[in-house]
Amino acid sequence: MKIACYPGSFDPITNGHLDIIKRASKVFDEVYVTIMVNPKKKVTFSEQERKEMIESCIKDLPNVKVVIGNGLTVDFATKLNATALIRGIRAVADYEYELQQATANMMLNENIETFFFVARPEFSFLSSSVAKEIAINGGDISKFIPDAIKDRVNRELKK
Ligand code: ADP
Repeated sequence: MKIACYPGSFDPITNGHLDIIKRASKVFDEVYVTIMVNPKKKVTFSEQERKEMIESCIKDLPNVKVVIGNGLTVDFATKLNATALIRGIRAVADYEYELQQATANMMLNENIETFFFVARPEFSFLSSSVAKEIAINGGDISKFIPDAIKDRVNRELKK
């Protein structure tokens, strides 16, 4: 059984994240979308809120689960029995950071491989921050944020 961990902030989940989750769920037997707790990062939604939002977007994906993780990603992935980490690459800008993380994780644990999914072109500019900025300023987020959570995001963010 091939188990993968998809770590990230998901603050909140976007259509770009959801696309990666769907594609990964076809490749791996089980995918754990893992909201990594990062005390240094200023977040908009609590871990529990982010978990609920992801869960409402993946109801039709039986082999995907959402968990809240802490500590080193490779250690948390090991607790999940995962042997793969999933990350997305949108543009060259992501590459340097992702390469650094993946290499560090490789040095920390040889048994966990990082797999990169290339963003679909229509989501290659999309980040949680861009979507939030649009919502805060009253723009239409329907192309960027999954339908299941669109109203909730608008409610919480619209000025
Ligand atoms: P982190 O704080 O760990 O970067 P994010 O939630 O911003 O958390 O991103 C998690 C992962 O998903 C990262 O690998 C990121 O590159 C990827 N990702 C984010 N947005 C997109 C998108 N629109 N398309 C594809 N991958 C994405």
